[in-house]
Amino acid sequence: MSDAELVMRSTRVVTPEGTRAASVAVRAGRITAVLPYDAPVAEGARLEDFGDDVLLPGLVDTHVHVNDPGRTHWEGFWTATRAAAAGGITTLVDMPLNSLPPTTTVEHLRTKREVAADKAHIDVGFWGGALPDNVKDLRPLHDAGVFGFKAFLSPSGVDEFPHLGQEDLTRSLAEIAGFGGLLIVHAEDPRHLDAAPQQGGPKYADFLASRPRDAEDTAIAQLIAQAKRLHARVHVLHLSSADALPLIAAAKAEGVRLTVETCPHYLTLTAEEVPDGASEFKCCPPIREAANQDLLWQALADGTVDCVVTDHSPSTADLKTDDFATAWGGISGLQLSLAAVWTEARRRGHGLEDVARWMSTRTAELVGLDDRKGAIAPGRDADFAVLAPDETFTVDPAALQHRNRVTAYAGRTLYGVVRSTWLRGVRIHADGEFTAPKGELLTRTP
Ligand SMILES: [Zn+2]
Repeated sequence: MSDAELVMRSTRVVTPEGTRAASVAVRAGRITAVLPYDAPVAEGARLEDFGDDVLLPGLVDTHVHVNDPGRTHWEGFWTATRAAAAGGITTLVDMPLNSLPPTTTVEHLRTKREVAADKAHIDVGFWGGALPDNVKDLRPLHDAGVFGFKAFLSPSGVDEFPHLGQEDLTRSLAEIAGFGGLLIVHAEDPRHLDAAPQQGGPKYADFLASRPRDAEDTAIAQLIAQAKRLHARVHVLHLSSADALPLIAAAKAEGVRLTVETCPHYLTLTAEEVPDGASEFKCCPPIREAANQDLLWQALADGTVDCVVTDHSPSTADLKTDDFATAWGGISGLQLSLAAVWTEARRRGHGLEDVARWMSTRTAELVGLDDRKGAIAPGRDADFAVLAPDETFTVDPAALQHRNRVTAYAGRTLYGVVRSTWLRGVRIHADGEFTAPKGELLTRTP
């Protein structure tokens, strides 16, 4: 490793070929080689020895609502990217809604990029939005470097981001398929939501009944049918209903270009344990029962579900009222996602290789960043999370870096302490301390 500037050594390096003792050589922010543990360190190279702490590829979180500009009092690039860095995430892709403006035109994308530029502690990319009236903007946004387009099939929760009806969906998806783009979809069917009992109030059971599984299942079936007909590439966001798994598995087996994500809260929290009035647990689709959760884990293990992302979607604390019908829907999970998922994964017999695959490799692949991100391998960016996997901590909201310290995980004891986070060979976070922002704004690889 004569040309290495930095050598990162650990007895447990998580690589695509498995976990092993290794020395990772880094030059100019990139991994140049993964060498035997005791390979000699070249003269002039700096050695970082992590002992038995695990070296993971930095996580790639493709589902984050930063809300900046416009709703910066909910969250912003400065706070969100610090929370992400503290949680071992080195790349995030920002959702097109809840900021003002939403990312639905090239001009709006430019505004977003200007706002993010000097605030990003980690690398940041952007999704565009597909609205009923912006079909003409999709191709220019694609050319400007967004990673794909988000659409809702039911109301989004904010007026400036209307949902697509079935005819709108056909139009947008045909356009996107025409230039080889990706459509990512919030899949709940509005008619099933309208038909469900809308009780309101503080009881979680009433909220759960208002967002039934068949709303998800129906919307996913419709999306699959459209993707098949148009040979389009689609991605199901935040899957909660395990009832949709058989049709997802069947579509994949048939060759439909379909990927699926789920989220830490669906994998680690259950409807049975949500206290009444505790709207920090509210998101759409909702956290469901423990038996549903078991099936989601099975689907991750067998590949029916591809990846795990946070869907970090904060608001100010005052919008998290004790009425589930009107409280803001969104769970803030950026800083805790790795620990939360790892805690449950290890209990279920999964390894850190699985967690790295679900939260880094597959998400990098989803957005076409797998030439740079998502693995500890030569040629990739030297992005790492250094994790003490057997150490526990109890979640204290005061230690969270996101703007409004509301969390569904308060008081939980989790496995996995992130000791430090590295971006292109630079330690950007360690022990609650951060460097000045060093993140880059990413664009889709053409
Ligand atoms: Zn979301």
